[in-house]
Amino acid sequence: MEMDFENRMVTTEYIPEDEAENSLRPRALAEYIGQEKVKENLSVFIDAAKQRGDVLDHVLLYGPPGLGKTTLAAIIANEMGVNFRITSGPALERPGDLAAMLTNLDVGDVLFIDEIHRLPRAVEEILYPAMEDFAIDIMNGKGQGAMSIHLPLPKFTLIGATTRAGQLSAPLRDRFGVISRLELYTPEELALIVRRSAGILDIPCDEDGALEIASRCRGTPRIANRMLKRVRDFAQILNGGVISAAAAQTALDRLEVDELGLDMVDRRMLTAMIDHYNGGPVGLDTLAAVIGEEAVTIEDVYEPYLMQIGFLSRTPRGRVVLPAAYAHLGIPQPGQQTFG
Ligand code: ADP
Repeated sequence: MEMDFENRMVTTEYIPEDEAENSLRPRALAEYIGQEKVKENLSVFIDAAKQRGDVLDHVLLYGPPGLGKTTLAAIIANEMGVNFRITSGPALERPGDLAAMLTNLDVGDVLFIDEIHRLPRAVEEILYPAMEDFAIDIMNGKGQGAMSIHLPLPKFTLIGATTRAGQLSAPLRDRFGVISRLELYTPEELALIVRRSAGILDIPCDEDGALEIASRCRGTPRIANRMLKRVRDFAQILNGGVISAAAAQTALDRLEVDELGLDMVDRRMLTAMIDHYNGGPVGLDTLAAVIGEEAVTIEDVYEPYLMQIGFLSRTPRGRVVLPAAYAHLGIPQPGQQTFG
């Protein structure tokens, strides 16, 4: 069967229907729900830098997609009262691309580089002196007449975001003063996020309705907001427009997202691991081939949540399906006695 990865309801990756995200982004730290530890630390660093009249230290935010890294970076710029400049690792193809951004910054500005683990090597190398000494050396001209020009930069704050801190080179990682890991959100936090978004989008949604969406969105605000909009359509037709627990349940059942937030793709992956590999261990590349997805997508997008809920574990020999997943799928575990 063909899988529709592009329109997967529960993907944590940005898809076109998430375009309303900007209007849903909290603008101040106080509006940003959850991630309490990260927020507490950041607010100390922000206040301290402001008191000294200094520029905020460079910040690295890491964690799965859709958890609010971009949002948090924009909030930091906002709280510091500086410009927010945004780019990404893959967009900075040549050293000149980064140099152009850096030389256009004002003092104190935040430069946000999303997917910073994907910066080309040559670009990353200019970032070192830029972060450390606020200067870059660029080559002007070619061949024998080439000259290296030393360009001082305004003091700025680099905020890097990555799904995989482990893939960052040590010299780059070491140049961040603040390294914060974002965690999957609790259902209670997600319910607050859903209610907040429903308020902004003018969608009637009661507390139980919000909690129902919250428990099916895989700990991820991006999915919560996406579900809210899809469920709205069902609620409009089935429930006079109000998102109640029953309306949310019906809608998400029809969208084939189960009560734990798993969809066809998750179930197919777990079932394939059970049917063909006795539940594992299965190597990542084998798994990728079995379900026709890229290995990195499995690691960044599928696995964090499945591991969080105790369905899957990573071992040195590969991925293993855990008992909770068998129970959820209603598949008896080999070697396990079933009673009744
Ligand atoms: P990332 O950069 O980690 O992929 P984003 O910052 O783009 O994630 O967040 C995705 C969406 O989730 C945004 O539209 C934002 O509105 C919402 N969101 C993320 N974190 C929060 C939060 N803590 N409180 C409220 N909304 C959030």
